[in-house]
Parts: sequence; structure tokens; C-alpha cells
Amino acid sequence: MTFIPENWTPQDGELDGKSILITGAGDGIGRAAALSFARYGAEVLLLGRTEAKLDSVYDAIVSEGGVTPAVIPADLAQTSHDQLMALAGELSGSVPCLHGLLHNASLLGDRKPLSQTSAAIWHEIMQVNVNAAFMLTQALVPMLQEAPSASVVFTSSSVGRRGRAYWGGYAVSKFATEGLMQVLADELGSISDIRVNSLNPGAVNTAMRRTAYPAEPPQTNPAPESLMDHWIFLMSDASKDLHGQALSVQS
Ligand code: NDP
Repeated sequence: MTFIPENWTPQDGELDGKSILITGAGDGIGRAAALSFARYGAEVLLLGRTEAKLDSVYDAIVSEGGVTPAVIPADLAQTSHDQLMALAGELSGSVPCLHGLLHNASLLGDRKPLSQTSAAIWHEIMQVNVNAAFMLTQALVPMLQEAPSASVVFTSSSVGRRGRAYWGGYAVSKFATEGLMQVLADELGSISDIRVNSLNPGAVNTAMRRTAYPAEPPQTNPAPESLMDHWIFLMSDASKDLHGQALSVQS
């Protein structure tokens, strides 16, 4: 069941005046979200690992006449707490507040049984999918608190709500993502105007999905662009009352 109210569609300028940071903004769902947010008026801050991909999103937004984005190259597997705190300091000098934070970057890792999962890959998955999301959130909450209302979205997965064989560290990291969402939502619910939710996109035709299911025809699944109303809704004021929820794009 969709969480978008019946008949809701984003209006022109739905995200006007909002500054939204997206991690993993260079590809897949993050790229589509960045382009969509910009089309609806947001200033987007594009964080990602591959600078050339971020530049391509930047160019597309500028060529469409969107608000000039910021490009933040960062490999979340390598970024320290101090570096993320410094990043937040720099951002607070260039944007007055943050209205949205989409934790989207994730590492899939190997599809293997736990007995064959390498500890190094396990640590890297946890670093990118969980530790970096925690550290970035901690660094950016003060800027989110400066906004009249703000939305934090953690990207989950069906294997983060029900574990399945051979999804290894990725699945466990998504359970942790749900935990991070719940704890943060409970902490912020009564003391701030920051809403916090998790979102399971369901199967989407991206590089990650194609890697996870190499034998599946890619067109089996929707393109990220076709699902973007869900992400726009969560970043718009229309979702002000949604808080602490584990949401799904596709049933
Ligand atoms: P993609 O692999 O297509 O994109 C992931 C993005 O995250 C890429 O831009 C990638 O950068 C970035 N990223 C990966 N590692 C790092 C890192 N160390 N530092 C910074 N950025 C990094 O995946 P999707 O678009 O499919 O996935 C987006 C989110 O949706 C993920 O959280 C995923 O778990 C979730 N999801 C996706 C599903 C699907 O079917 N597609 C299903 C359920 C959940 P780069 O381009 O440089 O590799």
C-alpha cells in the first residue's frame, strides 16, 4: 500500500526553497532523486564517490535551468567522523539550513553465505551503509534543526525487514538502518521539526539490482525515474505528519 495520499501529485515548485543533500547521487535511485528534486525547485547537494558521475548530474540540472547544485565528492568507505564534521561546517557557511537528507548510498557486497563472507567486505558494508549514515546524520542534524521542517530518509530494503539467505552484510546493514531510523525518530520526535523515516524502494532497475540478479531481464523492474513521486512526497511539506515509519514504494 502506497503511503502517498490518493490524488497527490507533486506541483510545480513543490520543493522550492529547499536544500536537500543526497548521498550516492551519481547513479541509480540517487541520481533520479537529485534530478527530480531539482526539477521541483530544490537546491540539491550531490554527495557521491565518483566525481565524474556527480558532474554529469550537475550538468543535467544546470542545463534544465535548475538551481545550481553543490558537488561533494566523498567515498563514504573512507570518510572519517572529523571529515564529515568539517563538511558540515563548510556547508553551514554556504546554505543557511538543510530541509532534507536522503541517505541513499549503499554497498551491496558479495551475495554469499555468511560462512563465506569476508570480514573485510563485511566491515566495508557496515562502514558505508551504517557508520557513515550515522556520522553524517550526527554532523547534519544541527543544520536540519535550523529548517522550519526537515525530512531525513534512510534507504532500506526488503532484506532489512526480513532476513534472507545469501544477502549477508547488506541485509544486516539494512536492519541496522531501520534501527538507526527508529532511534533517531524517537529522539527527535518531541524536540524538533525533523521527521525521520525509512524507505524500501522495492526492485528497481539500477546497477545494484542488475548485479544482485544477473539473470533477470533488467526491464522486469521499473526505472527509478518512474517512482520518484514517493521521494518527492517525503521531501515535501505534504509528508509533515509521517514520522518514524518503515515505508515501502512498492507493495
Ligand atoms: P546503485 O548501485 O545504482 O547506486 C548506488 C550509489 O551509491 C552510487 O551512486 C554509488 O556510487 C554510491 N555509493 C556506493 N558506495 C559509495 C561510497 N563508498 N561512497 C559514496 N557513495 C557510494 O544502487 P541503487 O540506486 O539501486 O540503490 C540506491 C539505494 O536503494 C541503496 O541504499 C540500495 O540499498 C537501495 N535499494 C535498491 C534496490 C534496487 O532494486 N535497486 C532495492 C532495495 C533497496 P558510484 O556510482 O560511484 O558507484
